[in-house]
Amino acid sequence: MNTIKDTFKHQGQRRLLVKELENKKIKDPELIRALLKVPRHLFLPKDFENKAYDDIALPIDEDQTISQPFTVAFQTQSLEIKPGDKVLEIGTGSGYQAAILAEMGALVYSIERIPKLHLQAKKILDQFYKNIHLLLSDGTLGWPEFAPYNKIIVTAASPSLLENLMTQLVPGGMAILPVGDKKIQKMVLLKKSVDNKISTVELGDFRFVPLIGKNGWTEK
Ligand code: SAH
Repeated sequence: MNTIKDTFKHQGQRRLLVKELENKKIKDPELIRALLKVPRHLFLPKDFENKAYDDIALPIDEDQTISQPFTVAFQTQSLEIKPGDKVLEIGTGSGYQAAILAEMGALVYSIERIPKLHLQAKKILDQFYKNIHLLLSDGTLGWPEFAPYNKIIVTAASPSLLENLMTQLVPGGMAILPVGDKKIQKMVLLKKSVDNKISTVELGDFRFVPLIGKNGWTEK
């Protein structure tokens, strides 16, 4: 169990990290407040605690990664998160991205396919947040039970725009997902108009671990 003291550790490093992110055009005040608050070091294997506030992706269990803080901030800022937004996340991983969204007042539904990561994330997130719901499943199928969502965030590399998943987005909603091959992806911001028309913009190159599932990549 983490103590209150653990959560306050590294505050100075969090401040420096946020300065670095502000230099990279991260400016949503509520996002900055969340980045200053969420203890990223608690979402990592102990060995990496001293690197937790470097702006880099780091390994977590099962050959997966916790996204680079800039990537988390960039995807979050692009989605214009508002308190009360229902957000579907595909790829819980460490749970850090879900914590940032919850800290901003979103109601988070996050899906992970690897049991060990799902359980580890659940253990830590349950201590801090009541507004996060976690599911062990293939996220490419979404979470129809709670649909529609105001926002959808995919944190693993998708081979397509996941059109089926976008039926779980409200008219007027937004999604962000990295689309490309397994090596490099374009970040795509997708908007669904009030009359259900989809438009997309590309926001630069990123690198994610593959999205594996029925509408993603097949394993290996
Ligand atoms: N948002 C995470 C990033 C984790 S990396 C964080 O903040 O740490 C991407 C995660 O997506 C991995 O944990 C991987 O297992 C998971 N993943 C890959 N394909 C998936 C799928 N079809 N459904 C749910 N999770 C998936």
